[in-house]
Amino acid sequence: MRSKMEGRAPHAALQAGLLFFFVLAYPCLAQQFEPQLPDPGRTSLSRAQQEQLGFKAAQQVYQQMPVLPDSSPETQYVRKIGSRLVAVIPPAVSWPYQFHVVAEKDINAFALPGGEMFINLGAITAAADEAQLAGVMAHEMSHVYMQHSAKQMQKSRFTQGLASIAGTILGDAGGLLGALGATGIQMGAGMMLLKYSRTDEAQADAVGAMILYRAGYNPMALADFFKTLEAQGGTPPQLLSDHPNPGNREEAIRKEIRDWPPERYRSDNAEFIAIRRQALQTKAYTSDQIAQGAKTGQWEGLNRTNGAVLQPPPDMPVPATSQAPAGAGATPVDAWAAIAPSQDFVLTDISLARIARPRNWEIFAPQQQGQAITIAPGACIVSKGVGCGVVINAVTFTAQSMSLDQMTGQIVRSLEKGESGLQTVGGTSVLPVAGTRGRSVYMQSISPFSDAQGHAQKEKDRLVTIPLPGNTVVYLIFIAPERDFSRLNPTFERMLQSVQF
Ligand SMILES: [Zn+2]
Repeated sequence: MRSKMEGRAPHAALQAGLLFFFVLAYPCLAQQFEPQLPDPGRTSLSRAQQEQLGFKAAQQVYQQMPVLPDSSPETQYVRKIGSRLVAVIPPAVSWPYQFHVVAEKDINAFALPGGEMFINLGAITAAADEAQLAGVMAHEMSHVYMQHSAKQMQKSRFTQGLASIAGTILGDAGGLLGALGATGIQMGAGMMLLKYSRTDEAQADAVGAMILYRAGYNPMALADFFKTLEAQGGTPPQLLSDHPNPGNREEAIRKEIRDWPPERYRSDNAEFIAIRRQALQTKAYTSDQIAQGAKTGQWEGLNRTNGAVLQPPPDMPVPATSQAPAGAGATPVDAWAAIAPSQDFVLTDISLARIARPRNWEIFAPQQQGQAITIAPGACIVSKGVGCGVVINAVTFTAQSMSLDQMTGQIVRSLEKGESGLQTVGGTSVLPVAGTRGRSVYMQSISPFSDAQGHAQKEKDRLVTIPLPGNTVVYLIFIAPERDFSRLNPTFERMLQSVQF
């Protein structure tokens, strides 16, 4: 379906994924071919959820990366460009975009759901002019605008649940381990940083070109920047692997803009040149240095010293647990208050199943196919993994007609083979759950949380498997440091008894 407002050019990029266009009431600007932003579509994650997830991830970025303070010339400049770009997005479909600069040499920029965006110093110094920098920013903003991360998370929840990790559990321990571990392990700065699909890329280019054009920048600058990076020898920058070329990026954008009315594009680069000179003198780190420093808490300290503080976007709904940020590394859960479950339970549809959860425990959706959903207080999620809460996933076995005991055994063995060091304690028992007969197995491992004295402590884990038709098993793993398990167990039981399909 195409609308008149789409323009005459064959919209190669947009036709691929965007079917619906809406016409906005722009009284004077609405010349015949003025490009209109497409309908961003819908996802099952609400705006509030996306903003909260993005903000939580941005908090982790501030813990795990060196960020320039808001007062720095680079940040001020990037925000100026950002506000120009934001101004052309209709407020009803826009996001509370916030722009930050990371003191990283590598050429990269990334945006989180809800609109938090991080731009490396390396991206500023690699750009040839202001329009190229604006081009990368507009492209990132378009991923947020189109809600690509949320759509991807939603898609993986639907597809991974019942079918697609069948192959990975058998033979490839990494699959299931990845499934279990990734939710926690990748929760750090990498949280919600997805490799975008080519369709997403084509959309972000097309929407980014519109934003640039409407803000007075030459949309070709977007393509030029990517092209310059592609032409460089050596290891391609992270920006290119996160944002793969959807085909002929340059040609697609050229076609996209062909029939838009002529525009005199911004060409004043005096400020850009001054800022780039400044950026070249600002201390920047390699991605390896940043990864190292994140382990020792170096950046959290540096950011505090520099006054780099993340402010919540205006009007952001703040979840009840946000005062308990997830720390990097082993943080003792000595504050029961940070994890104490609310007695107010809410029934939540997680696609795999419906399950009641304490209102103050959050849902951490998977970022890739095959990964688990975690329901936990934010304080339970640390860079080493999930220290307390419930991890839920499903697996389909390819072998014909396996018994539930056999399938449970396979899951247990995959867990035992993995790096998490899980060991079975005792036998398997039958458990009435969700109107059927499931299985329950207790396991133990080392908790990612150290105890109050800073020593390693044991973790107690309870695996529950529930059979579904088609050789599929939904499994839940209830996790807590051993000393806290009994205190959380009534909550775990209540969640377990609430499971419905
Ligand atoms: Zn992209």
